[in-house]
Amino acid sequence: MTQSVAFIGLGAMGYRMAAHLPKYFEKVYVWNRNFDKAKQHATEFGTLAVELAEAVQADVIFSCLPTSDDVETLIDGVNIKSGAIWIDCTSGVPEAARRLAEQLKIQNIDFLDAPVSGQTIGAENATLTFMVGGDVSAFERAYPAMAAVGKLIQHVGESGAGFAVKAINNMLLAVNLWSVAEGFSTLKAHGVNLDAALNCINASSGKSMVTETIFPQRVLSREFPVTFALPLLAKDTGIALNLVHEAKLPAPILALTQSLIQAANLTAEPNSDFSSAVKMYEEWTKITLK
Ligand code: NDP
Repeated sequence: MTQSVAFIGLGAMGYRMAAHLPKYFEKVYVWNRNFDKAKQHATEFGTLAVELAEAVQADVIFSCLPTSDDVETLIDGVNIKSGAIWIDCTSGVPEAARRLAEQLKIQNIDFLDAPVSGQTIGAENATLTFMVGGDVSAFERAYPAMAAVGKLIQHVGESGAGFAVKAINNMLLAVNLWSVAEGFSTLKAHGVNLDAALNCINASSGKSMVTETIFPQRVLSREFPVTFALPLLAKDTGIALNLVHEAKLPAPILALTQSLIQAANLTAEPNSDFSSAVKMYEEWTKITLK
């Protein structure tokens, strides 16, 4: 039975995800590199801000850091409780998940790659989708902790499969974001009212999450609120394209999208939201999507 849970990495996602755990678990430890955030979390949500060495003594340990490199470096520097389950919610690299799962198994620790989807609002409302790779019995034991934060908790295969699904999901988001920018710029060039066009498309076969929420709330509103940083999307499309290369498949659309997102990331203002990628296309066309 789970006695204690820890959450490592209280960023845009982690801060909100960890907030749900005290509703279900008696002892919830939190740790963050900038430790003031952990203290603030403890005050706000009744968690316990502890040193990293203590956090990794929990039965279930969540992490949500920018990259797999960050997680591997952190894990290399700590002694994790034997018998614990590590649930890594980072959008990471499949190869790193396989490596960590093997390395930790020797110490009697289960590692699940369990990236999430649903944005910060999904973290806030505990409606995230977890796509989980790793040992099935560890998945079953970890299920209640993930269910505290998520709505769909899906085992998708062996170690690395969760990270793979997440990378492809975000690549599809990027393809869609870019193609909606091209489509709506074309409509604007033809003098069509974009709000009216959006109404029609959102009741038609061309609709998507991008047309339903991202475009109206971030692009057409010109708000571009920073909840999911563009460098993180660029990292995810990179992971996805590596998977394509490993599979030795042709994927021209994905390759082109990866190049576009990398270029947009290089030219964007620092600290830009992922939706700001469309600003590069606006520069080319001199059409502002509003
Ligand atoms: P943020 O940049 O908001 O937060 C990153 C967190 O990781 C912070 O707590 C930061 O600590 C910590 N951190 C960064 N580097 C290190 C390190 N080397 N060692 C220890 N801690 C470190 O990122 P998000 O919360 O947005 O994203 C986290 C992960 O979740 C990423 O992999 C992202 O791709 C994924 N994701 C993000 C979504 C979103 O909408 N934002 C949606 C779904 C997945 P500090 O406060 O000290 O800087």
